[in-house]
Amino acid sequence: MLDYTYEDWKNRAAGLSFRGQAFIDGKFVDAASGKTFDCINPATDQVLAQVAEGDEEDINRAVAAGRAAFEDGRWSRMAPGDRKAVMLKLADLIRENLEEMALLDSLDMGKLVKDAATVDAPGSAHFFQWYAEAIDKIYDEVAPTGPGDLALVARVPLGVVGAVTPWNFPLDMATWKGAAALAAGNSVVLKPAEQSPLSALRLAELAAEAGVPDGVFNVVPGFGVTAGRALGLHMDVDCLAFTGSTGIGKMFMQYSGQSNLKQVWPETGGKSPNLIFADCEDLDAAADMAAFGIFFNQGEVCSANSRLYVERSIKDAFVEKLIARAQATQPGDPLDPASKMGAIVDEKQTQGIMRFVEEGKKSANLVAGGERVTVDGKGCFVQPTIFDDVAHDNPLARDEIFGPVLSVIPFDSEDEAISMANDSIYGLAASVWTDNLSRACRVSEKLMVGTVSVNTVDALSAQTPFGGMKQSGFGRDLSLHSLEKYTALKTTWIKYKA
Ligand code: NAD
Ligand code: MN
Repeated sequence: MLDYTYEDWKNRAAGLSFRGQAFIDGKFVDAASGKTFDCINPATDQVLAQVAEGDEEDINRAVAAGRAAFEDGRWSRMAPGDRKAVMLKLADLIRENLEEMALLDSLDMGKLVKDAATVDAPGSAHFFQWYAEAIDKIYDEVAPTGPGDLALVARVPLGVVGAVTPWNFPLDMATWKGAAALAAGNSVVLKPAEQSPLSALRLAELAAEAGVPDGVFNVVPGFGVTAGRALGLHMDVDCLAFTGSTGIGKMFMQYSGQSNLKQVWPETGGKSPNLIFADCEDLDAAADMAAFGIFFNQGEVCSANSRLYVERSIKDAFVEKLIARAQATQPGDPLDPASKMGAIVDEKQTQGIMRFVEEGKKSANLVAGGERVTVDGKGCFVQPTIFDDVAHDNPLARDEIFGPVLSVIPFDSEDEAISMANDSIYGLAASVWTDNLSRACRVSEKLMVGTVSVNTVDALSAQTPFGGMKQSGFGRDLSLHSLEKYTALKTTWIKYKA
């Protein structure tokens, strides 16, 4: 697959069929209302499929199915080793269908198919496998009470987990939530983003094939204000795992307060700073990764390194390196392995990015890109764009643009760099480039973010928690910490004759 040509990928895409119905209680079904919405390929503007437009009624059905499954124990009380075997099988099935999973995300939201085939889809299989392997290796606690008392402290599944996900990594966001929640023994109702529902629907089908029982993993496509809201307000959902924008994350906290006080785990926006110090020895590597950190996935990455703080003595030379890299990262058809960047998810997002760019042209120094373009006369594409000498309070440097737009800001001292980096409502991630070990430790300690990457960007693995501080939310995906959030601590106290 990795040696496929452009023609190969186009032929594979043409032969693909799409699941467009909701997946509830082990079956593909139409929305109760019978309504559908268009699922669009942003690289071609073509309608790929009609997808069921789920709303409150469909969410109710899915939650009821999840609850029934949870209560009869078909998954929640399955022996850990058996649950593990099912999830390992699902990881295998994702690998067997890697090409299809990669194509679904690429066609649906515009990412490069070669990235989807090497990052997103293998990542999904890996995360299912990782959580599967954990299931029968985690022990609970016995509290230190006296003789005559046995106090067991166990981690038990919560019940029905609602998951609401964004469109930038559709399969992986469904996986980050789904794999951990399922591994802990919960039932799941997933509402994927309306821009990119296709891979989650196929994932549900593969889960059923792997042996996940009916009702345990449900996927209801639909819009945020109807289906997403219904899940957030549902009286019988125990936990709501959300990834998306900060504004909607706040709404989910409100939904919880207005309904049943369900746990809410928000993972929201970012405006991640990347700090380049003059004592970084390999500035070419720093420039490669700075470009990757903002142009990968068209900049539609929550942790994208969109603010670049460069020590003034090397700033101009560093910006020259970045301009060359931006010029070598032009967008093209996501199915063409030669393309360096894909399409923006949809027309609305493209227009939103271009509003920032047009305002930026009036207030900062545009040094690369800055135009919306088409590929073969079609689609939503934005050039890799760099603004230099951006004022710290310019919206370019403060707001999450969620596109391939980099703001460069010079600094004169370590303290100034740290204070500008921390002066943000967001706190998701940061990068630091220096070969001075003490500085690396000192700066990392002071950055108020969930992940600091030193001499790299966006470091991430199944073994380490991913999530933010401040208004980037407080949910954590990945690692055993994520598994823990899908459980409750339960004490069982037993009196016996000592
Ligand atoms: P979004 O907040 O618009 O939508 C996310 C999800 O919420 C979608 O499924 C949407 O349908 C739903 N939704 C929208 N309005 C709703 C409402 N009123 N009630 C209930 N649900 C509603 O975000 P997006 O544009 O899809 O994704 C981009 C955002 O996601 C960015 O802010 C990005 O930073 C963030 N993100 C964060 C992480 C992270 O881990 N922190 C990862 C990826 C993306
Ligand atoms: Mn789409």
